[in-house]
Amino acid sequence: MSNMIWHNDGHKISILLDKQNVSISGIHCPFETNPDANCQTDDICCVKWFLERYGFDCNVGVVSAQPELEIAWAIVGNINLGLDSCQVWTIPVNDEFFSAWLLSQNGDSST
Ligand SMILES: [Zn+2]
Repeated sequence: MSNMIWHNDGHKISILLDKQNVSISGIHCPFETNPDANCQTDDICCVKWFLERYGFDCNVGVVSAQPELEIAWAIVGNINLGLDSCQVWTIPVNDEFFSAWLLSQNGDSST
C-alpha cells in the first residue's frame, strides 16, 4: 500500500443496507466542478467511475458500518491509456491500518 499514492481529499460514499445486501447509494466527489483535480479525467471522477462499476470490489479497508464513509483513493496504471486499463482502490480514512499509516506519513515530514 505504501508504494501507491493515496489521495485523502474528501471523497465520500453513502451506504445503503437493504436486508442482507450492502450497496453504495451515493458517491460524493468534492471536485465535480474542477477539471484539474487529481480524480478528474475526461470530465468524470475516476473514483466515481470505478465505484459505480465495481462497488466494494474497489475497497481494501475495514471499518464499522456507518451511513456515510469518507474514503481515500489510489489509482494504479496509466490514466492516459484510459480508465479501462487502470484500477482505482479505495479505503475508508477511518480504517485502523490506514489511519495508522497516514499518521506515520505525516510523522516522516517533520524529521
Ligand atoms: Zn472525484
